[in-house]
Amino acid sequence: MKYVCVFAHQDDEMRCLGTLLRLREAGHEIAFVTVTKGDKGLPYVLEADAVGVRDEEMRSVAAAFDAEYVCLGREDGYTYDDPGLRRDLLAAIRSTRADVLITHWTTDYNADHVVTAKAVTDAALFANLASFPTDPTTAFATAASAEIAMDAAPLGAVPRIWYVDPGAGYGFEATHFVELSPGHASRKAELIRYHRSQMDVIRQLSGTDYADQLADLDRLTGNRLMAGPTEAFRPCLAERRIPWPSDLPGRL
Ligand SMILES: [Zn+2]
Repeated sequence: MKYVCVFAHQDDEMRCLGTLLRLREAGHEIAFVTVTKGDKGLPYVLEADAVGVRDEEMRSVAAAFDAEYVCLGREDGYTYDDPGLRRDLLAAIRSTRADVLITHWTTDYNADHVVTAKAVTDAALFANLASFPTDPTTAFATAASAEIAMDAAPLGAVPRIWYVDPGAGYGFEATHFVELSPGHASRKAELIRYHRSQMDVIRQLSGTDYADQLADLDRLTGNRLMAGPTEAFRPCLAERRIPWPSDLPGRL
């Protein structure tokens, strides 16, 4: 199956990287889509080429999964739901031939995340409907439309959607869990550190390491289940998008 991660920023995929490792091991294909360019991602070095740095970092993570990477090119911090976003997301979902989408929880600390979660859910419902064309000559074309394969055929079915755990404080009560082996957990930390620029930002912001923060979250989640480090999910249960039990890897 094809699992497509659609997140607002380069590094948001860190909340499901262990699950992606397990899916890849099981022979599934992965793709990454980001809505923004991550252009505000280097707040302490304003002269730096944040877009180039973050693009390179994201591409290195994608390469580790033999995954394609598509960026919709929106401005970081200013993601608004509009016709162009819906159309670009629809095109990206179709061009990556998504069976399963993984995206942000519907409520969290970052406005780009919240808009992305809603927009992904809305676009997915149209993925199999030929009456929603994405041809770049149609209305709502955006600059990013030129970068996306806009001519992909509608999907055979609406992709199923999983929301990732945003951490405590956002009303996310997990319903589905994916346990990680020690090997998965250490590889996950390595992959998070591919976003080297963001490691520096978080260390300046909070004094801690991003990979260590995620490892702590995974350990706490696992403790609830008397299991090893674990990632948590909730399914989108909207009509026609109900996930299959086999969408996520089983117990180790
Ligand atoms: Zn983000």
